[in-house]
This record gives sequence, C-alpha cells and structure tokens, in this order.
Amino acid sequence: MPLSTIYIDMNSYFASIEQQAHPELRGKPVAVVPLLSDATCCIAASYEAKRFGIRTGTNVGEAKRLCPGLICVTGNFELYVQQHHQIIAAIDTQIPVQGVHSIDEMSARLMGDEKEPAKAIAIAKGIKKAIREKIGAYATCSIGIAPNRFLAKIAADMHKPDGLTVIEPHELPHKLFTLDLIDLPGIGRKMKPRLEAAGITSVEILCTADEDTLAKAWGSIVGREWYMRLRGHDAKEVKIPPRTIGHSHVLGMERRNEEGARAVGIRLANKVAARARHLGYIAEHLSLFIRYRDPIRALQREGTKSWDARLALGAVNDTTTIVNAFTQMWSRRPPGVPVQLGVTLTDLTTTEAYVGPLFTEQNKLADLSKAMDAISRKFGADAIYQASMQEAKKSAPRRIAFGNIPDLDLPDIQS
Ligand SMILES: [Mg+2]
Repeated sequence: MPLSTIYIDMNSYFASIEQQAHPELRGKPVAVVPLLSDATCCIAASYEAKRFGIRTGTNVGEAKRLCPGLICVTGNFELYVQQHHQIIAAIDTQIPVQGVHSIDEMSARLMGDEKEPAKAIAIAKGIKKAIREKIGAYATCSIGIAPNRFLAKIAADMHKPDGLTVIEPHELPHKLFTLDLIDLPGIGRKMKPRLEAAGITSVEILCTADEDTLAKAWGSIVGREWYMRLRGHDAKEVKIPPRTIGHSHVLGMERRNEEGARAVGIRLANKVAARARHLGYIAEHLSLFIRYRDPIRALQREGTKSWDARLALGAVNDTTTIVNAFTQMWSRRPPGVPVQLGVTLTDLTTTEAYVGPLFTEQNKLADLSKAMDAISRKFGADAIYQASMQEAKKSAPRRIAFGNIPDLDLPDIQS
C-alpha cells in the first residue's frame, strides 16, 4: 500500500490571515469573533491565544478572563475566501488540488514516483514555500502524507503548527496508538461512548479489533470501512453517489417575473452542473420545480400552487446541456407568477464508473465546462457566467462556514 494522499491543513486559519494582513496583531493573542460582544463565541484563535486555552467556540467573555490581553477582531470573511483561492492556486503550482474539504483544508493525490516518501516530502515542502510566498510567512500549514486521505488528515493533525508528518504503511497501526479516539475524524462526542460500550476504549483496541467487531460497534458497513481505512486501504473507489444534486431559490420581489425568474433558473442550472463536476458525478435527468403565487387562489386561502417537470439528459454534467434542458422545461411551464425555483440533477453516477460520452459533440461540451470551471477557480466565482445569468448574478446569497466555502462557481453549496 503506497502513499497516496497529501493533506494540507492551514494553522489557525482566520487568525493567521488576520496576523498576516495586520502586522500589529503578530505575536499577540488574537481571537476572531463574528461581532464585538462578550456574549458571542470565538470562531478562531491565534496560537498565542490558544496557549491560554482559548479555542474555536470559547465564549468571548470567558476568553477575556483566560487572557486579559486578548485582542478581538471581527472576521473579514471576504478576505478569508479570497485567500482560500490564493492558497489553492499556490498548492496547484506544486501538485493539482484534488479535494477542497473546508475553507482551510485541501488534499491532492500522489501519482507515480510522487508516492515515494522522499518525493512526497519534497512536494510538501514546495507547497509550504509556495503558500509562504503567495500569502505570507504567517500563513503556515500542517501537512500529512499517508496511504489514504483519512490517515493523511490524521497525520496533518499530529504536528501543529507548521508540521509535516508522514505515516508510512509499515508504521501502521502503531503510529496511531498515541491518539485519543476523539482525535480521529469521524469519532465525535456521540460516537465515542458507543464505541466504549462495545469495548473499544482506545485507538489501539480500535486498530486491533476485527472487522465484525467494528461492523457491530458502528451498527453498519461504516464499521467495515473503518477497518479498511485504519489499515491504509484507499477507499477512493467506494464513493457512493448522493441521490440528487439540487439548488433552490426563493425569488426576491423584483425577480417574480419572466426575465428575472428565468435568469435565476439559469444560474441554478449552472450551479448544479458545476457542483456535479466538482463532485465527479454525471446525471441522467434534470428536474425543475416552480412554486407560483396565484392571486385568485390566494383569496380562496390557497396561497400557492406548484409545477414540476423532468427531462432526460443522457448522462452528462456539462453546463450547456443542463442549461438547455432547463430552458426547454421553462418554456413549457404554465403561466403565473413564480415565487420559488428548484433545479435538481437526479440519477447520478460517478464519472469514474461511467464509460464516457458517446458523441464527440458531448465531449466538446464537457471540455468547455471544464475550461469554465478552471477560469472561475482562477478569477473568482463570477468571472464566467452565461449572458442570460447577468440579471441573476447577485441574487444567490453566499454563506460561509468551515465546511461550506463560497467556492469557485458554487456560491452556496448545499449538502
Ligand atoms: Mg486548520
């Protein structure tokens, strides 16, 4: 089982970006907060603040008691997202980024001789240097290299800040024994007592338990997946597709008309297409849902009515085909004032499982979509959009959370 994955985790991301941007914060205990109030919680803490026991989620009043010199700064999320894209660009100069797992965690797959430990370590050092040069010396990261992504994330966690840890196959499983069960991604406060009840009270016991014991402890095949991943198996191929990829949008008053609503629908179609490509899925059908406001029925206390339609796509994920399917269904919709639209891809297959487009025209559309994704990634979410989307460009709200980045062409990811 060779090394397969390199995992990059930025250290104290929001706080480090603030220290990079504001020299007066460097070397000081800093907490990033959503607003300046003692009643709120810290959403990030600099390493200097962490030394006082301040963590993500620490109440600000409590944090100030722990560290009277604490500097609170309100989060600048636009900046964090912008730097997130810069970090991806920096990593891309060393190895193509394959997975973006949160605003400050990414992974890449090692190919060919990159799987040799010395090569992989050289790439990791190159990534650190590239990030330093692009973002600045305060943007440090911890990197993990291992035979699968799960173990690479654990390796990245082992040394902070600015760590570089390799878990080689021959070091399994004993290298994990120093960890607590709760240190493993996927074992939280709910799962830990369940494992303990099954007699699994340490990582060592977890790693030496047989497959059936783990299946029983988890109560599902997830236990078997744990058995495999702890042994370094690379579970990339056992990706189970989601049932659907969909986005919906309640129309603002100004878009409850033919042009405004159609533009929003086209944007939603673009988003589901981009998301399907991002996740590596192709879809066989597109469905459209429209909720209407009906003034006559509203008087009869039946405020809304809805309509939906479904169209075969022929196993694709390119923007052009999906937008065309949307406009075809849109033209058939019953008249009325639309108040909400939903666009959903269904019958998904992984792109790996699919043998490929049969027609060269389809190939061209797929290439065009890939190029659009690349440009959006480089120049921001709205660098490319179809002319008809212009109207709706600003109407999709961006949300931000650690596991939910307003990313490239997928502004509000819904999972
Ligand atoms: Mg981090």
